[in-house]
Amino acid sequence: MKTNLPCAFWRFAGRVPAKRSPSRPDILGERTVTLDGQLVSYTLKRSSRARCVRFEVREGTGLAVVVPRSYRLRGLNDLLKEKQRWILHHLAGHFRATQLLAAGEVRSGDTVPYLGRDLGFVKCPADGCAPGVGLVQNQLVIRGALDRQRMDLLLEQWYRSQALQFTRRRVDELVHRLGVQYGRITIRGQRTRWGSCSHRGALSFNWRLMMAPEPVIDYVIIHEVAHLREMNHTARFWKLVAEECPGWREHRQWLNEHGGWLNARPLPQQPLRI
Ligand SMILES: [Zn+2]
Repeated sequence: MKTNLPCAFWRFAGRVPAKRSPSRPDILGERTVTLDGQLVSYTLKRSSRARCVRFEVREGTGLAVVVPRSYRLRGLNDLLKEKQRWILHHLAGHFRATQLLAAGEVRSGDTVPYLGRDLGFVKCPADGCAPGVGLVQNQLVIRGALDRQRMDLLLEQWYRSQALQFTRRRVDELVHRLGVQYGRITIRGQRTRWGSCSHRGALSFNWRLMMAPEPVIDYVIIHEVAHLREMNHTARFWKLVAEECPGWREHRQWLNEHGGWLNARPLPQQPLRI
């Protein structure tokens, strides 16, 4: 049965509650720990609702460690070391996103992520040169004397145009094979969604997907196109997705793990529960 609800599947990234609740964790303070030779600072919180220790990497605040009310802090350093791979991986993604697209400058010699690999980035700031972005062999060349804001805008426009070409080509192939029709494709920059499908058959995709490996982008496209037949997340829907994309679980996992740095403003990561 079809419903009029748009696909909300991608709202997985989690939302921070707007209101302060009485059960909000108490902040115990800022601490540091050395993980794999790196000094990592974190905010320690204690929560009466937490049943286990959890780690969170959030926009603006970095790493937070939430411990249950009765947890003995003596064992915390050992636990942090045990989970250092996850922590360092997510912190690296957090800083990378912030550095690359939100706060930092991209300079010649840097790289930008594209289809799951790193493209060399070259800035040609010659005056009198029309501003533009182009892919030259394995390098992304940005021309013109541009301030950072203008450069970021041009980069985003380039990602958006690549996303439109890429998704349109794949969507056209898929709808033909599945015998369904779609309205139009829009490229957006949603903070909490990778894609959507409306009940009118309008598809939208997040331009930041172009930073992900191709099979991951394909999975998101297949997911949304499958909604043109099944506007739900029932077993029938997932069967259809699996027929087109047998590795969908792995790709969804990739998005859960890397979604934070794909997003220009890092989203709260899914907390690791232990
Ligand atoms: Zn969905």
